[in-house]
Amino acid sequence: MTAEPVIDQQQARATAEVPATVRASLSPSRAADFKTCPLLYRFRSIDRLPERPSVEQARGTLVHAVLERLFDLPAAGRTPEAAGDLVAPQWDRLVTEQPELAALFDADDPDGTAEFLRSASGLLGGYFAVEDPRRLEPAEREALISAVVDDELLIRGYLDRLDVAPDGALRVVDYKTGGAPREAFEARALFQLKFYALVLWRTRGVVPRVLRLLYLKDAEVCDYTPDAEELARFERTVVALWQAIEAATARQDFRPRPSRLCDWCNHRALCPSFGGTPPPFPAAAASADPLVDARSRPSPPGADE
Ligand code: SF4
Repeated sequence: MTAEPVIDQQQARATAEVPATVRASLSPSRAADFKTCPLLYRFRSIDRLPERPSVEQARGTLVHAVLERLFDLPAAGRTPEAAGDLVAPQWDRLVTEQPELAALFDADDPDGTAEFLRSASGLLGGYFAVEDPRRLEPAEREALISAVVDDELLIRGYLDRLDVAPDGALRVVDYKTGGAPREAFEARALFQLKFYALVLWRTRGVVPRVLRLLYLKDAEVCDYTPDAEELARFERTVVALWQAIEAATARQDFRPRPSRLCDWCNHRALCPSFGGTPPPFPAAAASADPLVDARSRPSPPGADE
């Protein structure tokens, strides 16, 4: 998803609290872009090329929205029927906020939208097959979390859900709605979850007990248990990644790294690996205030399926 909503109050608060030592910020989505393919990072973060949302991404955003709102209901009311009743109103809200979503469907073909809404309801069926939301009271939903690492780098992103057990144990939950083969994206998904685990460890002093991926299409749960040593290593990896991004920006050198993920890339027409030519490197990028990125909003939940 490429929509960049206006900075919200939560974002403004987070920005206001950025320590003076911080020089830049990094979200898990953008870090994963660079790790996957430096040129993809450039297209998205430096050229800021528009990306038309796909039907799959729109479905992911819709399902994330429904699952967030579901927990507004009293516990006993969090039924599959109640979730189904949220689908159409949440879609209407999303289309109002992001009118480009309406263009995904032919206005003269109401069946297209109806089928889309049915497919979102189908994913919710996958959710109810693996969790009973009546037994859960999430501590956070769609929460913007951030931490400073290495004194200079603000890492932050939106986690889908955080559960806190009575004994204080944390469980980070990420909903995966995409229909693409899981093996193509699982490493990226786990990278993002570790990113959130690192933020929580640095801000709360607690290593999350579980990082959970919920694959709604397959109705499967993938749990991962990190430890402090691993998160310390991961922190060094994130800092090194940021240093590599800074070096690539200074050199204006972002190389393509073809992989299976190219099948889902919006920018193949501009990619040298597919016969394309990238646009000229933006003159402002190398000399830009790196804190501009710290003030921009990271990808919202559901934007990276
Ligand atoms: S098509 Fe592949 S190699 Fe080219 S920019 Fe996209 S992800 Fe990178």
